[in-house]
Amino acid sequence: MPDSSPALAQVVAFLNTLDVEAGTDELGSPAAAARWFAGQGLRHPGQPSAGQLAQLRELRSVLRDLAVAHDLGEPPAADDVRRYDAVAHRLPLRTALGADGRVGLTGGGDGWTEAAGHLLAAVAEASLAGDWVRVKICPADDCQWGFIDQSRNQSRRWCAMGSCGNREKVRTYRTRRREAGATG
Ligand SMILES: [Zn+2]
Repeated sequence: MPDSSPALAQVVAFLNTLDVEAGTDELGSPAAAARWFAGQGLRHPGQPSAGQLAQLRELRSVLRDLAVAHDLGEPPAADDVRRYDAVAHRLPLRTALGADGRVGLTGGGDGWTEAAGHLLAAVAEASLAGDWVRVKICPADDCQWGFIDQSRNQSRRWCAMGSCGNREKVRTYRTRRREAGATG
């Protein structure tokens, strides 16, 4: 695949506002959420209310669960379908004509609905292009980092072969040795 679109990279950055390894959450407070959206150049009105922040976190949670299913190579769970529908129902999308003449999707509504819809629009566009399935969550328990699988056959499972994949291989090897009764 060609390099992923900036919009899809932004979606992955949104997934990674939850950093499991560091134990931080950039959607942990209204002020933090406003900072993240501002840093991404996404238009938003001040700080989200508690309800709006909860919706942003639910959107992230659903998208992360779908990315986990991508990593497993499985279809979404029934519960994820239900939760996606509930989130998407509140985020109307609209079409927009770009300067290049291309008609694309963007967030509809206003305020935080528009800002969150912008991210969902990027997911929809990536899905139409066949690239959404490449967005995955690293399966290492202490990592769970979102990444875009750029491999040709979409077979990559770990966020970075140099760290998480190898670390998991070492762990599996050690477990096998233990089970085999080896020492050291
Ligand atoms: Zn990882």
